[in-house]
Parts: sequence; structure tokens; C-alpha cells
Amino acid sequence: MTRTFPHIVVAKFGGTSVADFDAMSRSATIVLADKDVRLVVLSASAGVTNILVELSAGLDSRERLDKIETLRTIQYNIISRLKQQDAIRQEIDHLLDNISRLAEEAFTMRSAALSDALVSHGELMSSLLFVEVLRERDVETEWFDARKVIRTTDCFGCAEPVLDATAERVERRLRPRTEQALVVTQGFIGREANGQTTTLGRGGSDYTASLLGEALHAARVDIWTDVAGIYTTDPRLVSRAQRIGQISFSEASEMATFGAKVLHPATLLPAMRKNIPVFVGSSKYPSAGGTLVCRDTENPPRYRALAVRRQQTLMKLHCEQGQSACRFLADTFALLARHDVAVDSITTSETSIALILNAASATSGESRLLTTSLLTELSSHCRVEVETGLALVSLIGNSLSQAEGVCHEVFAGLEKHPVRLICHGVSRHSLGFLLPADAADDAVKALHHRLFE
Ligand code: ADP
Ligand code: ASP
Ligand code: MG
Repeated sequence: MTRTFPHIVVAKFGGTSVADFDAMSRSATIVLADKDVRLVVLSASAGVTNILVELSAGLDSRERLDKIETLRTIQYNIISRLKQQDAIRQEIDHLLDNISRLAEEAFTMRSAALSDALVSHGELMSSLLFVEVLRERDVETEWFDARKVIRTTDCFGCAEPVLDATAERVERRLRPRTEQALVVTQGFIGREANGQTTTLGRGGSDYTASLLGEALHAARVDIWTDVAGIYTTDPRLVSRAQRIGQISFSEASEMATFGAKVLHPATLLPAMRKNIPVFVGSSKYPSAGGTLVCRDTENPPRYRALAVRRQQTLMKLHCEQGQSACRFLADTFALLARHDVAVDSITTSETSIALILNAASATSGESRLLTTSLLTELSSHCRVEVETGLALVSLIGNSLSQAEGVCHEVFAGLEKHPVRLICHGVSRHSLGFLLPADAADDAVKALHHRLFE
């Protein structure tokens, strides 16, 4: 019987929430506790994507066999706890055979498209297994291939969704399914116009959940992970970090953009567009509560959180003598645009530009930013200096560039730290500074102590 669900909730479970049979069972209980959850979006089981990324780098046959056996063990351990095992084992074996074939191809010739095809198997496997876990609870459940609806650009490893095409496909192909059964699909993966599999960058399942929430006009998107909400900084780094009860889209989005791994950087964009609240909670301790991300919050504090984005590169470009300063800026940005380099933090003087390149998010794990052709063209245009191994630490808050005393408070806490570049004044919600990567943790601890404890 077809029913309509006006308050559909999308629930996304990350890697640790589907790591093994017990984690999957806990996640299934969360899904079944809320009848409005009609769509479940899953990550690969913890550790699986990392192994697939390694395989896509091209390993020799012995290393490949080792990795594939590790993958098989993770999947078989889950299957061994199911009542009906034969059919699902065959499906998983088929996917493991695909992985093996693609990994062999990657050894002969790597490519970003091949890497995405390979890496997508993590989510394909976890979603098939989760369907079985739900069916064993007598729930009518349907497996759905997210690539049928998530249309993306062909930027393999960090594809961008094509919103119109995705919305149209969701309406036609996915919504009717959610009216018939509880639907389980994959995060992270999509398909470009020619039908090849793409991925949305590491951690991309959060983004899938909010994209699908947007297209379905969901009442809420729930992100179930291994922490009971969004904290004032990564609680793994600072044990005294405190949970934030409610946070605005803009603050949380700034946190995600500047490295708070709990949400993929783009997760909140679709939610903001449709004003869909996003809840973040722990699948292991669901009753511990969590964080609600929504449009407005009462009394937003000046200082909200600290985030770190690692794997940052500082590129300094110096104008040659005799070059016009304003042409220099214009030509440099045109050149970067031709090479598809997105720059999100920058400072300039009359004759130099310093910009931060972020290599942290692409699935294939390697920087495609500093290509030889980019460096060659830049060097013929100006003098280039590159410094790698940096981290961008950001303080997130409200009216930071208007309030008095912010810089004094922040930099007094950083006296002993070698700050390479400061970004302040453009965003009302963040103040960032670049440091050598090995100084970043210390800087966050010192600032957290000063501003939040
Ligand atoms: P999942 O696999 O569920 O997507 P992730 O590992 O991607 O989980 O994200 C959860 C992790 O994000 C936490 O374990 C925590 O270490 C990290 N994290 C970083 N910054 C924050 C923060 N401000 N609040 C909460 N968690 C954070
Ligand atoms: N499995 C992918 C990753 O590990 C996507 C995700 O977990 O969100 O990056
Ligand atoms: Mg994640």
C-alpha cells in the first residue's frame, strides 16, 4: 500500500555506526524508533574506505591479496551473525571480485575515475548488509543504488552534485520507493553524465544525506556518528571540549569548512537552502543527546568553537619588477581559475599574494592542486614559493571582526607559536591562522583553555 510521509526524516550512519554486526544492530534500533525515518544513508564500515583508497593507488598482487582478505573478514564477520547467509554472501563475494579486478587494473594504470569506481564498493557492501539486518527485524526494506539519483560533475574524487538533475531524479525514482518501504542507500557516491561512478570527497556521506534531504523536502536530517554532537573542538584532541546544544547553520558550516571532521564541509549548504534542521548524535549512546543545527539560535556566543584543517599548503607569488600590480592580481586569479584551483583564504600586498591550498578532502588522497602544468605556468608569470606541511587553525564565533579585543585575546594565547598567515576580517564567523602542522594541536589546546574552559 502506498502512503505519503509528510515529515520524512533522513538518517545517516557513519563508518563506526556500521563497523560490525553489533554497531549495525544499534543503528537499526535507532532507525526503527522513529517512524518518520524513511531513508537511511550509509557510509562504508569503518576502515573499509581507507583500504579501498590504498588499493586504488596500485598495489602489487601480494599486498592486494592481503587487503582484500581484510575486507572479506570485515564483511564475513557481519554475515556470520545473520540468520540467512547464503544469498548475501554471494552478493558480497561478487563485489569483492569486482574490487579485486579493479585493484589489479589500478596496479597497471591508476586513474581518478578507476579509484572512484573501486572506492564506491565500501558503501555498496555496507548498505547491502544493513538491509539484511533490518529485514531480520521484519521490516519491509529496500536497497537503493544512490547513483540512480545523485548526478554529479565528472571531477572524480571530489565531484560536485548537479542539483536540478538530482532533484528531478529523486522525485521520480526515490520518493515513490520511500512511500512503499524503508529505503537504504549509500552515501558518498554518485554518477556523472556518462554513467561513471564518482565520489563527493572523503566524509561525503553526510553531504549525500543532506542533498537527499533537500530533494525530498525532509523535516530533518539526522547524522549518527561516534560523538554525541558537535563540540567546542574535536573531543579527541581536547578532552575538556564541551558539547554545543544548538548551533546556527552559518557557524556549523564555517566549522565544517575549516576542518571539523564531524561534518563534511558542504553538508549544511542544502540544509540551509531548505531550512532543514540537522541533528548530530552518537549511534552508540543515542540517549546521550546531541547537537541541533538550525537557522537561528538564542544568544549566539562570541566564541563558539575551534577547528583545524590539516594538509594545507602556503603558496606565495611575487610580482616581477616592472609588472603592473593590478594586472598581476587579475592575471594570477585568471590563471588559477584556468587550472580549477579554488582558493578560500588569501592575503595580498602590493607586489605579492599569499594563498592557502587545501588538499585535505579529495577521495584519492593526493593533492591534485599543485600540478606540474600549474607550477610551470605560474613560474613563467611570477616568482613562486611553496611551503607544505601546514595546518589552518580557525576560531569560529559571531561578529568576530566587529568585536573588540578578539585579536588580542587570540594572539596572546599564541605567543610561542610561529604563525605564518592570518585570515581575519572577511568572515564574521571565523578568524584563521596558518601554522606548521606539528604546532597546530598545541595551539588548539592553548586557545581552548584560554577561550572555552
Ligand atoms: P563518521 O564516520 O560517523 O562520519 P567522522 O569520523 O567522520 O565520523 O566524524 C566524527 C569525528 O569528528 C569524531 O570522532 C571527532 O573526533 C571528530 N571531530 C572533529 N571536530 C569535532 C567537533 N568539533 N565536534 C565533534 N567531533 C569532532
Ligand atoms: N566512506 C567514505 C569515507 O570514509 C565516506 C564517508 O564515510 O562519509 O570517506
Ligand atoms: Mg564523517
